[in-house]
Amino acid sequence: MPTRPYLFYALTNSVCSKCLAKTEAKIIFRDGNVYLMKHCSFHGREEVLIADDIEYYKQCQEFIKPGDMPRRFNTAIERGCPYDCGLCPDHEQHSCLTLVEITDRCNLSCPICYADSGTEEFSSKDLQRRHRSLEQIEHMIENVVANEGEPDIVQISGGEPTIHPEFFQILDFAKSKPIKHLMINTNGMRIAIDREFCDRLSQYMPGIEVYLQFDSFEAAALKELRGADVRAIREQAIAHLNEFNISTTLVVTLKKGLNDGEIGKIIDYALQQKCVRGVTFQPIQAAGRLEGFDPTRDRYTLTEVRRAILQQSPHFQPKDLLPVPCHPDCLAMAYALKINGQVIPLTGLLDPTAFINVMPNSVVYEQNEELKQNIFKLFSTNHSPSSSATTLKQLLCCLPLVNVPTGLTYENIFRIMIVQFMDAFNLDVRSVKRSCIHIADPDGRIIPFDTYNMFYREGSQGYPLVAYRS
Ligand code: SF4
Ligand code: SF4
Repeated sequence: MPTRPYLFYALTNSVCSKCLAKTEAKIIFRDGNVYLMKHCSFHGREEVLIADDIEYYKQCQEFIKPGDMPRRFNTAIERGCPYDCGLCPDHEQHSCLTLVEITDRCNLSCPICYADSGTEEFSSKDLQRRHRSLEQIEHMIENVVANEGEPDIVQISGGEPTIHPEFFQILDFAKSKPIKHLMINTNGMRIAIDREFCDRLSQYMPGIEVYLQFDSFEAAALKELRGADVRAIREQAIAHLNEFNISTTLVVTLKKGLNDGEIGKIIDYALQQKCVRGVTFQPIQAAGRLEGFDPTRDRYTLTEVRRAILQQSPHFQPKDLLPVPCHPDCLAMAYALKINGQVIPLTGLLDPTAFINVMPNSVVYEQNEELKQNIFKLFSTNHSPSSSATTLKQLLCCLPLVNVPTGLTYENIFRIMIVQFMDAFNLDVRSVKRSCIHIADPDGRIIPFDTYNMFYREGSQGYPLVAYRS
């Protein structure tokens, strides 16, 4: 009797990447890899690589906790996931981080841009690129607060948010709300060329962080991703951010075979910068403008990025880079301490057996509720300056055989994060229900980033589908 050439692991739902109709999908293991296998009755079979590490993938399925709910939901369940965003009552996780896009305009026109932003007045879909009005933006921020009460992180985004003429009024408004941590998602051009702007931005510290595009040290890679050699701009932006010591996360958009060989070098560079608190690695999501990107050939999975970090950076071991319990399939994180120029992964401070004992499924872990809560807090995306320092100290205090370093502050924190967004190719409906990175839509909805770029952003592939249906 012939045997299947793969192991059928689980059943979920997805969509056809061509027509976005909902399909059943099998998760299968084959040759050490994990694939999503789906069948559309019009467009046939499709198979997409979703992980190259079966054990880590299985660990993610167990590294979960009951979801935290928002204070309210914004839509009803009518057509089924993913067509009811959101957040609909079927969503399993509140917003750990919400993007508020304040403009469609940008001072760059990157060949890769999920928002299809740019310098021209009209997009390729003939949509006019506009700055949102202050009134619209206040409404969006108020919606986030109404959903969350005290939102963990609100990320002011775009387009390029720093070119909005009312940028500082928007920050003032956001600062007047009970938001724990504000981030500015930027390409760094304004920060680089306008020192006074940077000085004024620094007045909003603490509780504000720059999320700085930083993809490569190579001119050719930057031209492919950003359409320009922006090395000098990045260098000057970092110089200003160091000068004013504004908390910064470097954000690396990764394309397989292009800049994935620079991961270790970027981590080393980040560790040398006073202002940098961490690096986020983000494989390209197949959405928006995708010039020169083939979603099947160039796809880069979270486990591949994790493997590359471990191969290229001597600072982190496999036990350091763990799934984030909010949304383990798509988020992974490592925490380290920067103390006196040394990098100390959190786990390096601990008796290894003690750390292994607090991992999921261990008896100790299950029995120690306080320890479990602290681990979840530490590895949640809630990391405002005050909360990180506090939870880190609490964690260290909880564990035996550890001398808690005194005087730890947010400046000693260094975190590596991998953020993978799903798209029409790798969408797993079981997983997207846990997503905790959301976008505030101007109409009042709060929508997972993954589905927003697929269906709900005006001009996106699925927009006619949901617009027609609603
Ligand atoms: S992704 Fe979440 S908000 Fe959107 S339809 Fe599914 S459960 Fe609802
Ligand atoms: S990716 Fe960012 S910097 Fe590039 S065009 Fe889009 S919004 Fe502008």
